[in-house]
Amino acid sequence: MRVTQEKPLNKRPLTLEKQYPWHSLKAIEALNLLQVSADEGLSDEEVELRREQFGRNVMTPKKQQSAFVRFLLQFHQPLIYILLAATLVTILLEEYVDAIVIFAVVFINAIIGYVQESKALEAIDALANSMTARAQVIRNGTKQNIDAQELVPGDIVLVQSGDKFPADVRLVRTRDLKVDESALTGESVAVEKEDTPVAADDVLGDRLGMGFSSTVVTYGQGKGIVTAIGDQTEVGKIQKSIAGAQDLETPLTIKIKEFSRLLLWVILGLSATVFVVEYIRGAGLGETFMVAVALAVGAIPEGLPVAVTIMLALGVSKMARRRAIIRKLVAVETLGSTNIICSDKTGTLTENQMTVQQIVAGGKTYTVSGLGYRPEGDILAGEQTVNLSTNAALEQCLKAGLLCNDSSVKEKDGQWHIEGDPTEGALVVSAQKAQLEAWKLEQDLPRKDSIPFESEYQYMATLHGGNSPVIYMKGSVEAILERSEQAMLPNGEMTGLDKEAIHKHVEQMASEGLRVLAFAMASVPADMDGIDHVNTKAGMVFLGVQGMIDPPRKEAVEAVKLCQQAGIGVKMITGDHAVTAAAIASQIGLKGRRENGKLVAITGKELQQIQDRDLEDTAEEVSVFARVAPDQKLRLVKALQARGHVVAMTGDGVNDGPALKQANIGIAMGITGTDVAKDASDMVLTDDNFSSIEGAVEEGRGVFDNLTKFIVWTLPTNLGEGLVILAAVIVGSQLPVLPVQLLWINMTTAVLLGLTLAFEPKEPGIMDRPPRPSDEPILTYDLIMRTLLVGTILLITSFGLYLYEVEQGATTAEAQTVATTVFVVLEAFYLLSCRSLVRPMQEIGFFTNLWVYYGIAAMFFFQALFVYTPFMNTLFSSSPLDAMQVLRIFGAGVLLLIIVSIEKYIRFKVDRRKKAIAREMPNLS
Ligand code: ADP
Ligand code: MG
Repeated sequence: MRVTQEKPLNKRPLTLEKQYPWHSLKAIEALNLLQVSADEGLSDEEVELRREQFGRNVMTPKKQQSAFVRFLLQFHQPLIYILLAATLVTILLEEYVDAIVIFAVVFINAIIGYVQESKALEAIDALANSMTARAQVIRNGTKQNIDAQELVPGDIVLVQSGDKFPADVRLVRTRDLKVDESALTGESVAVEKEDTPVAADDVLGDRLGMGFSSTVVTYGQGKGIVTAIGDQTEVGKIQKSIAGAQDLETPLTIKIKEFSRLLLWVILGLSATVFVVEYIRGAGLGETFMVAVALAVGAIPEGLPVAVTIMLALGVSKMARRRAIIRKLVAVETLGSTNIICSDKTGTLTENQMTVQQIVAGGKTYTVSGLGYRPEGDILAGEQTVNLSTNAALEQCLKAGLLCNDSSVKEKDGQWHIEGDPTEGALVVSAQKAQLEAWKLEQDLPRKDSIPFESEYQYMATLHGGNSPVIYMKGSVEAILERSEQAMLPNGEMTGLDKEAIHKHVEQMASEGLRVLAFAMASVPADMDGIDHVNTKAGMVFLGVQGMIDPPRKEAVEAVKLCQQAGIGVKMITGDHAVTAAAIASQIGLKGRRENGKLVAITGKELQQIQDRDLEDTAEEVSVFARVAPDQKLRLVKALQARGHVVAMTGDGVNDGPALKQANIGIAMGITGTDVAKDASDMVLTDDNFSSIEGAVEEGRGVFDNLTKFIVWTLPTNLGEGLVILAAVIVGSQLPVLPVQLLWINMTTAVLLGLTLAFEPKEPGIMDRPPRPSDEPILTYDLIMRTLLVGTILLITSFGLYLYEVEQGATTAEAQTVATTVFVVLEAFYLLSCRSLVRPMQEIGFFTNLWVYYGIAAMFFFQALFVYTPFMNTLFSSSPLDAMQVLRIFGAGVLLLIIVSIEKYIRFKVDRRKKAIAREMPNLS
């Protein structure tokens, strides 16, 4: 199935004008047409030339909703309909100024809504796009990992399970390649690919030899030559842009919308009643209509859903700063109530910096000195440096580690780095410490074929030719022992395999937290030139094991501690050995079921024996799961969710998709994760680090806190406004606040005052309290009480001062201006208190959120314009106030602040008392 091409390339200009039927050409013909060799790939100059000719591998984004349509949609709200109707009525009543003002407000409101929504969308899109796809290519004869946008026609790309095809390719080599083409054909059964040509008129789904952009490799490996990029690809042609439109709706915004809608009907009912009552009382038709409108405008918190969206979007960028990229807006909301995190071990909780420390081969134990990837150190038997020539088993064990390996270590600026998988890097280094070098060994033992590592099989194998052809194999101890029948002695002779003894030894190593890999080999006939799982099924010769340390990440230890303090359970789910997993888990400080003082680790095999119902208990109590296969991750998530937990689960492999989708927060690894895992996830960690999950949870809690603060701040305004209008109707007075004035209050305060709460820093101790139950209402009893309290104060002050001013002989305009200003000023004072819903003001820290003060200053500036400029006086029927009138309003503001502070203090004290009782009588609470 391999295509090699020796003949020199003739340099004629590349023409792809006529679309070749690539699927019906032989692979070699495709290579010739595109003037490239499958082993060498393109040269850098060639790539440059082709990029000039064909452009970059990007798809023109699908036309989203046009800006104009999105702007128009801003008018598609019940309140706006009412206001548009009000505009019409005022025109009919020949109140042209009012008509203009109301319409202007509607218009400006739409602009603000549009701008804010665009910003939120932009922020999210930018983040989603910052995760660019990568592609493995062969260029200049070497393997490289490049940005998929840099691909040009003729590039040789390599794909393996979990990857998406980065462009359309003609396959030139396949190994058990299976591809899910549902993105293109809708057919969800994976297609087996081969490099054979098919008839030119065969449909997409039958084109065996092609790999299409955006389809997903579910199994095996393939090598192909790029035939089309960007818009020229099959997906490009049907314009199925991969980056789907972002959904700005979350359960929370939906809930709030529903709440607004319900309120709308209540208020419309109320308005209608008021309308009828007023009309019967003999008021004019126009006037009664305006009263009804005022009630609707004042009492409906229409700005709330938008504000919530904006605050969530702000959370997205906060999380990005903590290296967690949010792919779905809901995640911001859900993170705050996450109470279980299931995390990978290797690389997430541990450093993924592996160093081999112990080797057991031919029944003898060796230690390895040196740390990290620097190939300096020795392999010691006791105190003595070993001599490989008298330790055949050790030599073969090291060789197996070195040759059955796709990684390498390199020195750069005095630092040693690995290229590839750290587990494999460690094996390269241990071999180098015994003076073994891959390039030397490969002269006698050139690699002919390989079976790559996959979590499912837990081993990798390579086939080597030369004078004495062999298969080398490495993998988990279980996987290797299952396939071995004999073991090698130090003198190179064979003996029977004592599996019992090996297991014991491995347990010992694992209990020290070492990650243990086993090695085996087999001689094979010289004519063998490919291997598959059947070739390694049995008859292998066991060589030994190497144990490597992978220290816990320091930040992860800290983060786990924070999570557990915050009532969030942390569980380790790993493919590693149970004993290793348990040892690392206790080093990290995981809590969980223990037996004889030791953390219990349940293996995948044991999980299989457990019935779904009992699984819930196990999943809840045990915190270490080892040798877990991806489908068991799914079971675990479901079991935890059945107990009402909000579960975050990490994943990186091809088969992790279902578990990631099922989890409330699916977290993919940014570095090691496959495209499939990333697509299925809600969030991607750019550094694969557990502490980034903790960071995101912390931010999630902060965002939710600020949302609550905003809601608690904003609702009393609507309540107060509604009450003032109702009160006026009941006592039969004129409207204390006109509809246009209500519009003024609602528009300015929400943006200038309320949104500044989004910048409120996180409450101290945010990770000392338990997670918010996901079904808990946003407004708890305490907060509803506060809303009622403040709403009532607004009613009393606004209506009271209005009546007082009228009593004192002020004009209606003056009195209404006072009543309006009361709302603005009192909301500004109340804002100071809302910076924390529980802590007293002196504890908040006066300078921790300067936005609040800027907002208040701006608000007062605009209110001064409203009160003192003739222009605004005409528009809003307002009137200048004198110093005493202003002073009285500010006095009321201070009073409000004092009352709320006292209320907070009492509640806080009660709360403390409750906590103290809970501490003394833990069993009763
Ligand atoms: P995890 O990342 O959770 O530690 P993996 O699924 O990556 O688990 O690995 C499971 C087991 O497979 C490891 O404990 C090890 O024994 C084996 N293994 C891991 N990486 C390789 C590899 N590159 N080649 C061969 N075997 C491996
Ligand atoms: Mg791994």
